[in-house]
Amino acid sequence: MEVPFRHIRNDFPILQEKVYGKELIYLDNAATTQKPKVVVEAIEQGYYKTNANIHRGVHYLSMRATEAHESARACVARFLNASDPAEIVFTRGTTEAINLVASSFGEAFCNEGDVILCSEMEHHSNIVPWQLLCQRKKLQLKVIPILDNGDLDRQALRAMLTSEVRLLAITHVSNVLGTINPVKEIIRLAHEHNIAVLIDGAQAVPHVKVDVLDLDADFYAFSGHKMYGPAGIGVLYGKRKWLDQMPPYQGGGEMIAQVHFSGSTWNELPYKFEAGTPDFIGSTALAKAIEYVEHLDMDAIARYETDLMHYATDALLQLGDVRIFGTSVHKSAVISFQLGNIHPFDVGTLLDRMGLALRTGHHCAQPLMDRFGIEGTIRASFAVYNVPEEVDVLITALKRIRTMF
Ligand code: PLP
Repeated sequence: MEVPFRHIRNDFPILQEKVYGKELIYLDNAATTQKPKVVVEAIEQGYYKTNANIHRGVHYLSMRATEAHESARACVARFLNASDPAEIVFTRGTTEAINLVASSFGEAFCNEGDVILCSEMEHHSNIVPWQLLCQRKKLQLKVIPILDNGDLDRQALRAMLTSEVRLLAITHVSNVLGTINPVKEIIRLAHEHNIAVLIDGAQAVPHVKVDVLDLDADFYAFSGHKMYGPAGIGVLYGKRKWLDQMPPYQGGGEMIAQVHFSGSTWNELPYKFEAGTPDFIGSTALAKAIEYVEHLDMDAIARYETDLMHYATDALLQLGDVRIFGTSVHKSAVISFQLGNIHPFDVGTLLDRMGLALRTGHHCAQPLMDRFGIEGTIRASFAVYNVPEEVDVLITALKRIRTMF
């Protein structure tokens, strides 16, 4: 197969590292991706040259740091095709973005007896915040089932879109099955019933082009660290019409207009949702990561990763006793599997000793494991810097492991 991105491996120094004296083969990209030099250098330069607290200072460094942070926000807005940078709220990651919406949208728009919908393929961070909200406000969390191949059961979805539903929270791409949900269609259907939709984009943004206006998403969340950016910074996109009406999520500096003991008033968007000092170096480094993937071209990344996923799937299936979970035709570069009857943890541990980093376990999706009646899987997840030769090493390693049992 053609490998258009082989040259970029030099941008990621960690890929030259050895583990236990073996070449590192990093196939745990759904957990976090490695960072290109431009991102690491942006962090270093930020602390060396423009470190000062933002928004509050009239001095030179503070103004430069503020400019960098706000231009990162504009960069994210452009990347997601949001109509206004004020609709981009910086968070710590996807988890915090979803908690913000659950808490704040829940407070403003949900009442006893209302329903929140999610799906069977959600990550815990798109389940537990809704469970907490449901407990707090006496709502019901209903779950859209999936089919055996890992596709969402669209018939069930249609039947569940009722007048009691306030919000549908669903992942764009499953971190276990790789399923790419037809979110544009799902949002259109939900909107026909005046249901707001939150899309968990943690596994989508690094792999497919996202256009929040075209999708008509009400909320869209993602994490910097899963898309070649730093950990500790993420994004909540929210439509102004919702964000304007939602109460603050946390209180503190910067989110206020006035504070008096007689009462306080809130800052304009997006600052109303950004209490305290944000990760202003992280935001700048995230913008570098965005520029990096834009330069490679999101469509070309998606094409290449799909080819690599098919290459790996074919090779795994040739092993004979591999069971793959998630066989949707609309699939991103994630493969969850089991090897014969060998416990995924044993496979993962032995792979590690051979230099291969793969994830094993429930992948923070225990309800999905329940759905398939399993405890866990081994997961290979790919990024743009992975190459077919790494898949070949994985297959050889799995063959060796098989002989050990
Ligand atoms: N949603 C999905 C689909 C994920 O895969 C993850 C992380 O694995 C998250 C949410 C949570 O992301 P974070 O831990 O960066 O907040």
